Amino acid sequence: MVKAYLISTGTELLLGTTLDTNSVFLSRKLAEIGVKVIGKSVVGDNPDSIATAIRTGLASADLVITTGGLGPTRDDLTKEIACEVAGAEMKLIKEEEERLRDYFRRRHRPMPEINLKQAMFPEQATVIPNSLGTAPGMFLPLDNNQVIICLPGPPREAEPMYENYVKDLLIKTYQLTDSPSASRIIRIFGPGESQVEEMLQEIMDKARNYNLALLASEGEIIVRVTAEGQNQNESLDILSKVTEQINQIMGKSVFGYDDDTLSSVVAKLLCNRGRSVSVAESCTGGLLGKMLTDIPGSSRYFWGGVLTYSNEAKQKLLGVKEETLQKYGAVSRETALEMAWGVKRLSGTDLGVSITGIAGPEGGSKEKPVGLVYMAVVGDNLEQVREMHFVGNRAAIRTLSAKSALDLLRLQLL
Ligand code: ATP
Ligand code: MG
Repeated sequence: MVKAYLISTGTELLLGTTLDTNSVFLSRKLAEIGVKVIGKSVVGDNPDSIATAIRTGLASADLVITTGGLGPTRDDLTKEIACEVAGAEMKLIKEEEERLRDYFRRRHRPMPEINLKQAMFPEQATVIPNSLGTAPGMFLPLDNNQVIICLPGPPREAEPMYENYVKDLLIKTYQLTDSPSASRIIRIFGPGESQVEEMLQEIMDKARNYNLALLASEGEIIVRVTAEGQNQNESLDILSKVTEQINQIMGKSVFGYDDDTLSSVVAKLLCNRGRSVSVAESCTGGLLGKMLTDIPGSSRYFWGGVLTYSNEAKQKLLGVKEETLQKYGAVSRETALEMAWGVKRLSGTDLGVSITGIAGPEGGSKEKPVGLVYMAVVGDNLEQVREMHFVGNRAAIRTLSAKSALDLLRLQLL
């Protein structure tokens, strides 16, 4: 079995200001191709510590992967030290220099000369392209079938570089095969974790060549199904059968798979149905609009929204009646409905969505405790209100409210 040793460099990781997610990501990904992580180190931006960690890794592993310290500044030293430990001499690579100069030209910025070191690599190294930053990575083969790989620190750069280049290089170098297992995430919104577990109990009990893992996160229940067939095809087969069974039991509360989000699913539904939407928000302060616009191309179905935090704003901008606010209060079924109709009228969209609630920590009462939230979706021949009782801090209640409103909208679009 191919063995790997991971090194995360960066003083901020030692100070606790940044969480080392790179090694977690790599551990998970390497397992998928059958590479075993036998150890890892976190070290500061210090040449001796980095060198010691690389030597430690090379003493027992086939493969050392570092992240961080590929930037242009003086404390970015990882690649230099890796080459020094490997006894490999770096020289300026013409194409890399040109790529760097081009990077700066496109941004209309002069290139500082210190950036040139990002174009220096040993001859035997493979340069790993970085489409999101200036620091390319390095795949450096050593004499005895060992490899040192250096990736940049920012996860949004390192992760795609692993997926797009490193994985294939490793498979080729060590003649690995993608693992025969296959897995999928099924995303559920609505029922709680224990309820989902109860509903899926039979499928879990029957599991032989697959297993289910449940995880709750921000109101979503994530079911990871891993199928262990003799080969990929068999695993994929098992996967689709189990998925179908889960869909049967969970019904409409399954909103998506793998990388789907409530926003992306709602976006797809709105596009497919050719419906437009506007929002009126109170306690979420714009979060629902933010989530809807997280998806590129949202201008096709999202008109915009109004943020009506005060009663006055609800009246002036949305035409919520004084009488309604007096009689039922700002956090009520009636106000939620008038808000949704108000924004639909204002915008002329097919659908209006509203949220009003008490995010806390203050402002709750016995009848209307913190966490009480109403959301409404209205449209032609459609009027739906949902009353929710969330538990958690202010941030959690706001997130759950916005997601729950997205979910209500999703159910109306199905
Ligand atoms: P850059 O060219 O952006 O400077 P770099 O390769 O020099 O890249 P670092 O300077 O070490 O990378 O780190 C840049 C940022 O990446 C850090 O501030 C941190 O936010 C993030 N980062 C670094 N290492 C990790 C890690 N192991 N896990 C998660 N994030 C990390
Ligand atoms: Mg840096």
